Amino acid sequence: MALDPATFVSKPAPGRDCGTCTLCCKVFDVPVLEKKAGEWCSHCLPGKGCAIHATRPDHCRAFHCFWMLAPFLGPEWKPEKAKFVITIDPATQFMLVQVDPAQAGSWKREPYYSQFKKWSLANLQRGRQVVVFVNKAATVILPNKDVPLGEIGPDERIFITKRPVLGGFDLEAEKRKA
Ligand code: SF4
Ligand code: SF4
Repeated sequence: MALDPATFVSKPAPGRDCGTCTLCCKVFDVPVLEKKAGEWCSHCLPGKGCAIHATRPDHCRAFHCFWMLAPFLGPEWKPEKAKFVITIDPATQFMLVQVDPAQAGSWKREPYYSQFKKWSLANLQRGRQVVVFVNKAATVILPNKDVPLGEIGPDERIFITKRPVLGGFDLEAEKRKA
């Protein structure tokens, strides 16, 4: 997943500060720097900040993760602790969880996993999704299962289908050409 400046919300919640967190400088593509997801940016001083802070690209200048914007998320959700960075796609309102590949299973730990399942159920009812990325590999979190889909091409979209089964219904996720 790449950082897209057009999608940024620029105002962090009162009292929110990156402090020693630098995880967004690792987990995302930053095309303007030719930086790939999962590799530290060459300008990053992990745990300290950006070595080119005054002249950093607009991509970086405007970005705030969901933890910076959502005051209801506790300190355990801060990316440097959780080991993933959440963003909300402004176009689709999908919740995107970009995981530190060095701790690829971090999203399955508690209290995160149970909360992702709750958000998945709530989002599904609104036609939205919760999608985890480890570098480019996507996994859709559904209330009843997690569905690994691999890389999603630029011309592909994720579709959720619901089919009746004995005693209820089953959900499935797949990627299809848009
Ligand atoms: S991931 Fe969030 S808290 Fe961490 S450095 Fe980036 S914007 Fe700040
Ligand atoms: S330029 Fe600075 S803020 Fe941007 S990704 Fe690199 S280290 Fe992070």
